[in-house]
Amino acid sequence: MLDPAVAIATSALMSTVLLVLLGSLLRSGIPGVLEWLAANIAMVIALPLILLRGRIPDTLSVVAANMLMALSAVTYYAGCARFLGRPTHWPALIASLLPLGMALVYWRYAVDSIPIRVLVTTLFSSVVCVAVALLVLRHRPSGRSAYPYWVTAVMAFLFALCQVARGIYFMTLDGASSSLMFASTGSVILLVAGAAILPTLSMSAMMMVHEVLLADAREAANRDFLTGALSRKGFEAVARTQLAEASRRDLPVALLIVDLDHFKSINDTLGHAGGDAVLREFVRVTQMQLRRSDVLGRMGGEEFAVLLPATELDDARHFAERLRNAVIAQPVTTVAGPCTYRISGGLAAWRSGETLDHLSTRADMALYEAKRSGRNRVCVHEATPSAYALPPQGSLERASVS
Ligand code: GH3
Ligand code: MG
Ligand code: MG
Repeated sequence: MLDPAVAIATSALMSTVLLVLLGSLLRSGIPGVLEWLAANIAMVIALPLILLRGRIPDTLSVVAANMLMALSAVTYYAGCARFLGRPTHWPALIASLLPLGMALVYWRYAVDSIPIRVLVTTLFSSVVCVAVALLVLRHRPSGRSAYPYWVTAVMAFLFALCQVARGIYFMTLDGASSSLMFASTGSVILLVAGAAILPTLSMSAMMMVHEVLLADAREAANRDFLTGALSRKGFEAVARTQLAEASRRDLPVALLIVDLDHFKSINDTLGHAGGDAVLREFVRVTQMQLRRSDVLGRMGGEEFAVLLPATELDDARHFAERLRNAVIAQPVTTVAGPCTYRISGGLAAWRSGETLDHLSTRADMALYEAKRSGRNRVCVHEATPSAYALPPQGSLERASVS
């Protein structure tokens, strides 16, 4: 039969490994990792004290060890709260340890009862497990993978059940309190489950951290660092999804490509930092004109694209004119002085079945025409069925542009 000491030693080993792994995540600066690390440190100290029961005073191996395990549990909870941006309630968490400590002292020194001590400690940890599960389910971030959060919550609920079962099981044991109670098969099985709580929940915490790191990496790849608009990659991914949706629901879509006029001379006059400020201001002004469903991306340099879902060409034309006027009406204040700038735009209405690349090429052709015909204007590529056969690069003759 499995020796309870083996389960405890295995748990201590796993907590040590997780301590090292969580330590490697400290650099990420993600809130909560420090608390999860501290929870494992408390466990790594507590478990050897339990293993030494009988060889060291019970004050250490019973009272101190169980208090350290309870501290580990509430520290894990605080880690989850910090990770999810919720208040940690440290004073309440620490205060909750006091009655537990008093109960342990009472049922060790006033009345020596192993079943009641086990019941008290298992109930404490099951309450913490349920609190963790509820916290994670209630406050998991929306719009992100739910998987690691559900894993954490379900594991925490299951552990809470195991802990309650362990407490009740001990209460059914007859006879005087003795360490033999820990050696029965049922007790060892439930002890193994209890010993696995922190290592398992630490692993699921690491899954949550990795999910955040992955989401951050995706965000960094999909967003332009300078302006906060979507990057070209991010824009194209969202735009393709929008076109598929428009195709399914038979809705119109318009694409506007905007290029800042004579931006090189803005850079020459105001310096690169001044140019950057103009780019940021352009994105800010544009975002103020957009609806929630509209998509803005920086395609490179001083060229931007705006996808307007559920928008007819006429409405898109009005939007583009509004944007052009808004830009003129709001000069940018830069460290090198004020700057009034202009934009040119190329607009194209999506035709059912058309690819994003094809639509972009047509909007680009209209933009080229806006530049060629004097800048500070918006031209529209009127798609005739024949416009699907794109003209060779550089030739605009077949594009009817107004
Ligand atoms: P046009 O009206 O024909 O569009 O002329 P333009 O000067 O705006 O276009 P051109 O392509 O000649 O110059 C674009 C300039 O944009 C050149 C490049 O150095 C500058 N640029 C590209 N990316 C950035 C950036 O991130 N910040 C700044 N400040 N400048 C940039
Ligand atoms: Mg330009
Ligand atoms: Mg350009």
